[in-house]
Amino acid sequence: MYDLHHQVLRTDVSGMPLEWVNYRDAVRLYHLGQVAYSCGTLLYRVRGGICARTGRRSRIDVNSIIATSGRNELLSRDREHYVPPLNNPALFKRDAHLCMYCGERFRHGDLSRDHVTPLSQRGEDVWTNVVTACRRCNNHKAGRRPEEACMELLAVPFTPTHAEYIYLQGKRVLADQMEFLRAHFPRSSPMHDRLKM
Ligand SMILES: [Zn+2]
Repeated sequence: MYDLHHQVLRTDVSGMPLEWVNYRDAVRLYHLGQVAYSCGTLLYRVRGGICARTGRRSRIDVNSIIATSGRNELLSRDREHYVPPLNNPALFKRDAHLCMYCGERFRHGDLSRDHVTPLSQRGEDVWTNVVTACRRCNNHKAGRRPEEACMELLAVPFTPTHAEYIYLQGKRVLADQMEFLRAHFPRSSPMHDRLKM
């Protein structure tokens, strides 16, 4: 079994990924009877109180993926138009920690957010205009567009879907959770290849 730091992937009843929950929230969902079914692997076994009637200690088995009852109407309606909040940890993970100009891999601290069309040229701070860049490439590019700086962009930036964003937010994502999320990525998603890197 795993330690309690592993996050549980919560889905709705239809199996649509919703969010990561910690073990306390997962146990609460089990307690409230909101877990319709679970899949994935057994993450941990939590011991509860002693039942007055039977004198036995209750036990809750928490799995790595839990489907909860009730639908998230807002999310299911707007899923197609969902735009996740832009932040550097998710951006760097989207780009597999590779600089999108020189192609080298860097640690988080050595990466930066590059605006393909610079803000000074009315570029926007949105997923489709930002890429991961090492500090050296970003400094070299400065306030220019790639073609002005004679730099080639290695991949076209894209807005992650909801399922992709859940993956990007995950910490220590387990293999079965990864596989589950990947099944919800668009088939054409660049994430499939980047996950192999
Ligand atoms: Zn670089």
